Amino acid sequence: MSSSLDHDALASLLRRPHLRSLLAAMNQDGEETRIVGGAIRNALLGRPVTEVDCTTTALPDQIVRLSAQAGFKSVPTGIEHGTITVIVGGEPFEVTTLREDVETDGRYAVVRFGRDFAADARRRDFTINALSLGLDGRLHDHTGGLADLAARRVRFIGDAHVRIREDYLRILRFFRFFAEYAEADPDPDGLAAAGQERAGLAILSRERIRHEVLRLLGARRAVDTVRILAEHGFLTWILDGAGEFGRLRRSIGAGQPFEPVERLAALAVMVEEDADRLRERLRLSNEEHRKLSAYGRLVACLKSGPDICGAVDLRRLVAVHGIDMVLLGMAALAGEPRPRVSREAMAALDALRSGVAPLPVFPLRGADLVEKGVPKGPRIGELLSRARTIWIAEGCPDHPGSATALLQRVLADG
Ligand code: ATP
Ligand code: MG
Repeated sequence: MSSSLDHDALASLLRRPHLRSLLAAMNQDGEETRIVGGAIRNALLGRPVTEVDCTTTALPDQIVRLSAQAGFKSVPTGIEHGTITVIVGGEPFEVTTLREDVETDGRYAVVRFGRDFAADARRRDFTINALSLGLDGRLHDHTGGLADLAARRVRFIGDAHVRIREDYLRILRFFRFFAEYAEADPDPDGLAAAGQERAGLAILSRERIRHEVLRLLGARRAVDTVRILAEHGFLTWILDGAGEFGRLRRSIGAGQPFEPVERLAALAVMVEEDADRLRERLRLSNEEHRKLSAYGRLVACLKSGPDICGAVDLRRLVAVHGIDMVLLGMAALAGEPRPRVSREAMAALDALRSGVAPLPVFPLRGADLVEKGVPKGPRIGELLSRARTIWIAEGCPDHPGSATALLQRVLADG
């Protein structure tokens, strides 16, 4: 069964010199240290391994001491949870003391340090996330993760209900890891438990929800997974509003590498106000909110503006909204009754996308006006904005001389 797993990639993980030095240093004084979690999972799946986490019997102050002894810098990034970042040859590794849960409340866990690798594995979320590997090359599978990984199956460790009640974020992680790693359908026990425990999501912080939701939207099977979320009553809760599934599917299918937040826009922004609600709901950054709002304005324009008849209309649209936004909007709304876009305009969009045609760039700067004797101050902004309106109305000309003509025109008018 495990023939579909890349054991060579796993072996080559252990040939990484920094990682070897780290493990050797952390195995002093009778301690045992292993690579754990995502690095093992990704190596076995033949995927890139970017972060390597280690787990160890050594206590936090011992990790610091062993690091110093080997000449490595260490940073107590999460010392209260037992996590130290050890830097070997410029490469950071998170080294965490083995833990066992003492108490959980659905959000946070009180943990104690332990010396038992099996107990540490059992407190992790999914079987595919609980494999560990020693410097001796032995792969430890305390929870049946290898078989699940070979079958591309995401399963909770132990009873799914119990595990979800310990930490409701695991509901979203279940769907996120499914979206990234699974084939076929979700594990029926996990899915049923997630649905029954759904109300518990309400106690989670919005930051944690945001993190999982954006990761999910960026994942390989985002479309399938969002459909499952909708079918099981999660989607409206997550978005605090409606999701337009077809738009998400089309935007992802368009072959353009849209970011998670752009996928969120396609899915959940129907009007600009949706952007404000989603910012609150998911505690989005200003930059993320800006993108959602810009997408909302574009949709309004595409839905209720005039038809996009020719290359000039298209150029205007790109000048106002930016090429990435227009590509996203056109992909998401493709096939809907509006916008109506001519073939010529679509060809013009393609030319801009591929770089065959240059992107429209507004040709004037404040300095151009200052040079013509306009005093610095609010007047500059007003004139620039007027010039921009004229430039767009004229179809964003970029021929030599158009900047000078535009400059003369606003100066004469103003
Ligand atoms: P990636 O970073 O690529 O998303 P990862 O496996 O490293 O994947 P993290 O979220 O970084 O995922 O968590 C590291 C490991 O810690 C997981 O593999 C899992 O074993 C454990 N883990 C993380 N969050 C939880 C949780 N909420 N409940 C139980 N175990 C968890
Ligand atoms: Mg990680």
